[in-house]
Amino acid sequence: MQRRIVTAGSSTNQRKRILYIAHDHLNRDRGVLKTADPATDVVVLVESARMTTGRPWHPERLFFLISSARHFAAELEAEGYTVRYLKAPTTIDGLNAARAEFGNLPIHAAEPSSFKLMQLLTEFGVTFVANDFFLTSRPDFKLWAGRQKTFVMENFYRAQRVRLGILVTDGEPDGGRWNFDADNRLPPPKNYTWPAYLEHPRDELDKAVAAEIKNAIGLAPDAVDWQVTNTWATTRAGALAQLAYFLEHHLEGFGPYEDAIAADNWALHHSLLSPYLNNGLLHASEVIDAVLAAYETQNKAIGSVEAFVRQVIGWREYINGMYWFLGPDYRAKNGLGATRKLLPLFTDSSKTQMACMKQVVGDVEARAWAHHIPRLMVLSNLALVTGTNPQEFLDWMREQFIDASEWVMVPNVIGMATHADGGILMTKPYAAGGSYLNKMTQSCKGCAYDPKKRVGDDACPFTTLYWDFLDRHRDRFVKNHRMSQQIFGLNRLSDLPELRERAKQVLAGLDNGTI
Ligand SMILES: Cc1cc2nc3c(=O)[nH]c(=O)nc-3n(C[C@H](O)[C@H](O)[C@H](O)COP(=O)(O)OP(=O)(O)OC[C@H]3O[C@@H](n4cnc5c(N)ncnc54)[C@H](O)[C@@H]3O)c2cc1C
Ligand code: SF4
Repeated sequence: MQRRIVTAGSSTNQRKRILYIAHDHLNRDRGVLKTADPATDVVVLVESARMTTGRPWHPERLFFLISSARHFAAELEAEGYTVRYLKAPTTIDGLNAARAEFGNLPIHAAEPSSFKLMQLLTEFGVTFVANDFFLTSRPDFKLWAGRQKTFVMENFYRAQRVRLGILVTDGEPDGGRWNFDADNRLPPPKNYTWPAYLEHPRDELDKAVAAEIKNAIGLAPDAVDWQVTNTWATTRAGALAQLAYFLEHHLEGFGPYEDAIAADNWALHHSLLSPYLNNGLLHASEVIDAVLAAYETQNKAIGSVEAFVRQVIGWREYINGMYWFLGPDYRAKNGLGATRKLLPLFTDSSKTQMACMKQVVGDVEARAWAHHIPRLMVLSNLALVTGTNPQEFLDWMREQFIDASEWVMVPNVIGMATHADGGILMTKPYAAGGSYLNKMTQSCKGCAYDPKKRVGDDACPFTTLYWDFLDRHRDRFVKNHRMSQQIFGLNRLSDLPELRERAKQVLAGLDNGTI
């Protein structure tokens, strides 16, 4: 049954089009809205039941997506648009309901951000305008990718810098280098004062959405299992405030600690902008313009500015481009034949004694977010070395993260994190043992395990499983010249039989939630 949340503003028989706005296209100046006319267009947003109850979504994520869309709908209505925010079993049911009310008008939309929605809307006869929520169009990326032998992100990024004229003078990189990674990558600092987090106070609409979500997922209004946090903004004004806060308090320090995990701060100097970039409240161009303006007028450090610019014009654009370039079948890849079921610790942080996992999964439970390195070096690393099925892990990440969209999760998980694509995105798997985690995190000191040990009851599961993973895939990795050092190290291990035994115990303990 369809239900109306926002009622219409005035309109007439002159209505000519229905404009469908997906929950990740909340931008007044992009997609179909840039040519919209309140006199002739009706704006429709659909909250499908599949979106809310189809899977065990993190409530904070549901809250963010829904409350942002409802605020956006209300803002459009205040501007004079006729708006319908419809609840329906599916998106197509919602569009049918809009047609039932307004007549058989043509439906226009921006190209959606997943293959699935693209297919559904195409079959329904929706007319698309090009997706301009990125800096690189899908055809332009295809041209670049079609010319490559290997899809090295750094090559794409340098071409982006030149094409977009960012931090480049006469074809040469500002600061004399394309990449300041070597200066960044510092371990977490000691005795460092992190700026306070920006809070986004909740308005009445937010509170109503939070209460509705509790009801929808079967939680009592006062249940403590989930209370909405003040972490995420749900309006464009809030997203802009987050951007301004980042520029003022975090941009300068972004680079040096971008690869570290601190015990006393969950966000470090990361921007927390991905949710707004992904749901449309912010566009990459305005974020980059603001960062470059701060660089020029406030003399922000080039190492940090370049590192941030690379994430946005490089990684983000590359991941989106590769999603469309690689096609819908890429999602199902499982090149390492990983079949383990999702470990219980991913859905319940009390099911592990590993201090690093407890911290990161706890952070995700608290606010549906962890920065790039916990996602890669802790969560994905464990999925990789335990041989967890990449699709099970992908589904869990899609459900839990505030910024998770199909286009961004699929290449990050299947390519970057679990090497399930056999090396299309990354030439070697991102597997790390306890020593590296000990360097880049502050978790090991209080942990039940010892990062230096690979055998014995207190051996660090990461250390044991790192070697076991190499051992299990030795035949495959021996052919990869970028893995030769690791395989050489494996061949020198004198305790391989004990290590294999310990690995079996660790995997069993992880499977039953006791490690
Ligand atoms: C396994 C895995 C899963 C991920 N899933 C997502 C996801 O679902 N959604 C998502 O937006 N990012 C994802 N990322 C990328 C990255 O972790 C997040 O974009 C980042 O942590 C968001 O926090 P931030 O805005 O503070 O980022 P910052 O560190 O401040 O970086 C700035 C921006 O760069 C962009 N960016 C950086 N790296 C990537 C990347 N690899 N792919 C796409 N954009 C990138 C993001 O838009 C981000 O907001 C994933 C990374 C990994 C390893
Ligand atoms: S010892 Fe191992 S399991 Fe424990 S915190 Fe360190 S890396 Fe994680």
